[in-house]
Amino acid sequence: METNFTGKRALVTGAGQGIGRETAKKLAECGAKVVALSRTREHLDSLAAENPSIDVICVDLADWEETRKCVMSLGDVDLLVNNAAVALLEPFLSIEPKNIDRSFDVNVKAVINVSQIIAKGMISRKTGGSIVNISSQASQAALQDHSVYCATKGALDMLSKVMALELGPHKIRVNCVNPTVVMTAMGKIGWSNPEKANPMLKKIPLGRFAEVHEVVDAILFLLSDKADMITGITLPVDGGFLAC
Ligand code: NAP
Repeated sequence: METNFTGKRALVTGAGQGIGRETAKKLAECGAKVVALSRTREHLDSLAAENPSIDVICVDLADWEETRKCVMSLGDVDLLVNNAAVALLEPFLSIEPKNIDRSFDVNVKAVINVSQIIAKGMISRKTGGSIVNISSQASQAALQDHSVYCATKGALDMLSKVMALELGPHKIRVNCVNPTVVMTAMGKIGWSNPEKANPMLKKIPLGRFAEVHEVVDAILFLLSDKADMITGITLPVDGGFLAC
């Protein structure tokens, strides 16, 4: 399924690595003018070297004011992918307050911050638009040592539904994509140890983790006009994990 995004401007957060990076590249391939926002300069430089049509912007999304300044300077955006997140794993009984703050700042507060600015632009231009928030199977299933991460993704699912409710009248659609494990830098933190990975694999009916391109396809579908009547959903890309 190839979708044409010619004439659209897209912003992808967390586009330095992993799912965000491949989403930015695929959107550019499909004709969108892409802005890739992320935290580590060298990852963005290598993305820009790989595809010079992609504009890059380096900011820590945990910094509310700096992020606001950067995103406000971008101008018109039609498609937004809130993809950046951190996974700070620790047992429930050892959770440190600084990790709660960091996780909610990046995984939830930054989505509100960036989306407010982009949605206000869409509303004032009366163009509508599409927002895809990258959640996780962890929003709906308990995973060992993932209390805070699960809580941020549960919050993101519900935030997205309220955004869909309030922004729908402005023709702005808001949806989540909820992947199972994907072996990116983040995926490796939780799942590279076979003692953890194997029990998880056994709970996935299709018997494997997701590939990055499978998540990217779901994101592009929800961004596209093929999903024009779809808003407020959480779309699992999980091989059936959440069905069981
Ligand atoms: P990843 O490989 O770790 O990439 C995350 C990207 O987000 C990186 O480019 C990172 O920047 C950026 N980022 C993190 N904190 C940031 C901050 N404070 N400010 C700006 N950028 C920041 O992760 P991924 O696996 O692609 O994950 C992408 C999304 O999928 C996340 O929302 C994640 O929760 C979700 N997800 C992942 C999995 C999985 O198993 N991988 C499963 C379900 C859901 P740097 O370049 O500095 O690292």
